Amino acid sequence: MDMKIMTPGPTMVRENVRMARALETTNPDLDEQFVEEYRQLCLKIASLLHTKSEVLILGGEGILGLEAACASLTEPGDRVLVLDNGIYGKGFADFVSMYGGVPVLLSEPYDRAFSPEVLEHFLQEDHQFKYATIVHCDTPSGILNDVHALCPILKRYGILTVADSVSAMFGEPLDVDRAQIDIVCGGSQKAVSAPPGLTIVAVSEDAKRAMRCRKTPIASFYANLSAFDGYYDAKWFPYTMPISDIYGLRAAIDNIEKDASVLQRHAAVASAVREALVSAGISLYSKDGFSNTVTVFRVPDGVCAKDILERMRRVHHVMLAGSFGEFAGKVIRIGHMGENARPGSVLAVMRGLDETLSALGAEVSETLAETFLRVYSGDNYGDNG
Ligand SMILES: *Cc1c(COP(=O)(O)O)cnc(C)c1O
Repeated sequence: MDMKIMTPGPTMVRENVRMARALETTNPDLDEQFVEEYRQLCLKIASLLHTKSEVLILGGEGILGLEAACASLTEPGDRVLVLDNGIYGKGFADFVSMYGGVPVLLSEPYDRAFSPEVLEHFLQEDHQFKYATIVHCDTPSGILNDVHALCPILKRYGILTVADSVSAMFGEPLDVDRAQIDIVCGGSQKAVSAPPGLTIVAVSEDAKRAMRCRKTPIASFYANLSAFDGYYDAKWFPYTMPISDIYGLRAAIDNIEKDASVLQRHAAVASAVREALVSAGISLYSKDGFSNTVTVFRVPDGVCAKDILERMRRVHHVMLAGSFGEFAGKVIRIGHMGENARPGSVLAVMRGLDETLSALGAEVSETLAETFLRVYSGDNYGDNG
């Protein structure tokens, strides 16, 4: 029996994506047809993200986008506002310092979405920042931040914004231009449902201007976003593009484009999962800011996270994730993003958890599967679960 990879990234990869990675390859440095295909894919992603910003696909796992944004914008001594309400949120401070910037943390509790009022209040006192960083969905805790409300506030103070949407992009509504995000980062292995290996970035004109106006050179080659300037006219990439990864990404993006109900289905699956857990008496980790791509719940008293994960894999062939940092051992994460956001697959998680929790002696007041089936209101389109 196949294992269901119901983790918050990497996610399950559809067969047509795996097959696209086996297409015949060319020399991506010399074959101008490939530059055209790359460019068309970038334009399609830009249209799905509702942005006029330039989209680039970088050869490197999701983290590369975060580092490239910080490397490209930060000059020694630059003050950077780091919105910290999660592990990835705080993590941006490391990239800022690494490139000589001075991170200023605005820290809020990790179990709530970042409040626009708190941000506004803070900025009234202090807004001398080159840019600010924010995480759209902070995956270890499952918190969704409202980038459409927060980033425009920063822009009003003339602060550029870098948003990590690696685990939200294509699973949550994201209108990059309405949110006025200057650099938004996505990865291939989360809601895109391609294998890990690629970063997607959308870079605004304001961000490009900031890079052009630097007094010091960007202290990186691989993480230098301006290395792509003019690549299309010059028919030249700064480094050899991973062509098979890009063919896989193209198939995954086509799947998303054809799937008219993709965002509604993420929302319907996520809300049914939350309701099933709560009805069973299991606590969700967060108090608000619930994401549609990952649900994080507290391990019931008297049960060990490791035992739940182990039984889910061994008996039910479902892979769930624990978490890390301060959340290790305390919570379990269900990744219902991308190909995982299918009612059939999520129902298998609910049934597996019902059996597992009961076998491990946890008290639950109602079965997860029954509640999920009762309240799930999305369609079953393309359900291969
Ligand atoms: C997955 C993820 C990344 C990429 O990180 P990896 O640990 O290398 O997969 C970046 N940001 C967020 C919020 C993520 O969920």
